[in-house]
Amino acid sequence: MSIDYYEVLGVDRSASASEIKKAYRKLAMKYHPDRNPDDKKAEDNFKACTEAYEVLSDQRKKEIYDTYGHDGLKNSGYSGPGSAEDIFSSFGDIFGDLFGFGGGGRARARRDGPIPGNDLRYDVEISFMDAVHGTSKEVQLTRKDTCWTCEGTGNRPGSQRQTCPSCNGRGQVVRSQGFFQMSSTCPQCHGEGTIITDPCNDCHGMGLVEKTKKVALKIPAGVDTGARMRLRGEGEGGRRGGSSGDLYVVIHVVEHEFFKRDGDTIYCKFPIPMVKAALGATVEVPTIYGKKSLKVPAGSQSGTLFTIRGEGVTNLRGHGKGDMVVELQVLTPTNLCEEQKKVLKEFDTLCEQHGQHKDEEGFFKKLFNEVMGRN
Ligand SMILES: [Zn+2]
Ligand SMILES: [Zn+2]
Repeated sequence: MSIDYYEVLGVDRSASASEIKKAYRKLAMKYHPDRNPDDKKAEDNFKACTEAYEVLSDQRKKEIYDTYGHDGLKNSGYSGPGSAEDIFSSFGDIFGDLFGFGGGGRARARRDGPIPGNDLRYDVEISFMDAVHGTSKEVQLTRKDTCWTCEGTGNRPGSQRQTCPSCNGRGQVVRSQGFFQMSSTCPQCHGEGTIITDPCNDCHGMGLVEKTKKVALKIPAGVDTGARMRLRGEGEGGRRGGSSGDLYVVIHVVEHEFFKRDGDTIYCKFPIPMVKAALGATVEVPTIYGKKSLKVPAGSQSGTLFTIRGEGVTNLRGHGKGDMVVELQVLTPTNLCEEQKKVLKEFDTLCEQHGQHKDEEGFFKKLFNEVMGRN
C-alpha cells in the first residue's frame, strides 16, 4: 500500500502548495462519497487522495516523506487519516465551500453520534545525553477528559437529549427569501438535530471536564529534535462514547557544548598541543559512552579527521550504533617563558637549515606570481 503521494494527486514533485491543494480539490470533488454512494472504488480513491493531501499539505510531513518516504512517516508516528467523518472535520476549510450549502438542499445526516477526542501535542525539551541514551520522564498534563458522571453525554444522568424544536431534528433550517430558499445549519442545535435540555452538573453539558494527569514518557535512545512519539488514547477525552484522542510528544534536544550530532554520527573537536601533534601521541578522547584512546600519528595537522567506529548514537530503527568523528585542533603554545622561546628559536633555525620552510615559500611565491600576473 505504498503508492507515491505525488502520483496519487497527479502533480509534479516540485508542485507548489496551491497546486497541490488545487489537485486535491479536483479529485476530492470527483470521488467524494456523497457523489458516489455505495461505490467502494470511489471511496478508496477518496481516502488515498486525502491521505496524500494530508501529508503533502503539511510542511513537516512533506519533508519527512520527501526524504524518507512512507517508512519515515510511519516512524514519525503518522498512521494515515481516520474515517470519512474525521476527514470532513480536518478539511472543513476546503470542503466548506464545496459541499456545505446550495445545490439540492439535501438535509445533512444527524450528527449527534460519538465525538472522538482531539489529539494533543506536547513539546518536551531533553538534554543531549538523555537523547543519546534514552530516558524516562513524567509529565503533568491538564487536558479535557471525558466527564464520567454523564459518560461524556452532557446529560444529567437519567435524562435524554431532546429533538431540537427549531429544526425538528433536521439540523438545517430553511428560510425563504422571495424567490429563493436558503438552507443553513440550525443555530440552536448546531446541526446536531438534538439538544440537551437537562445538562449534567459536573460538566455543564459539555461532556468534558478539565483533569490533570501524570503521563509517563519512555524516550528511546537515539531520538533527535523533531522526533514524535504517539501515545494512544492520552489526548482529549471523547464525548458520547467517542474514543479519546492521541497525545503527540515532540522532542527538542538541547545542544551540547562539546559533542555535535548529525543523524547517528557524533562529531567533536579535540585539541592537542603542537609538540604532541608533531611527535605523535596516544590521547584519551571523551565519547558519549566514556572515553576511548586514540593514536595520533606524528605530523598530524589541524583539521585531520579520525573515525572511531561504534562510538556514535544508537540508531532508532535498529541499524546499530553510528561512529564518532574526531577533528584534531592543533594548539599553538602561548605564554612562553624565556627558556621556551629560546628553544623554539633554535628549533626555527634548525627548520631553516633543513629547508623545511621552503615548501611554504615555494607555494606563496607561486600564488603571488599568479595574483600579480592578472594586472
Ligand atoms: Zn458530565
Ligand atoms: Zn436544530
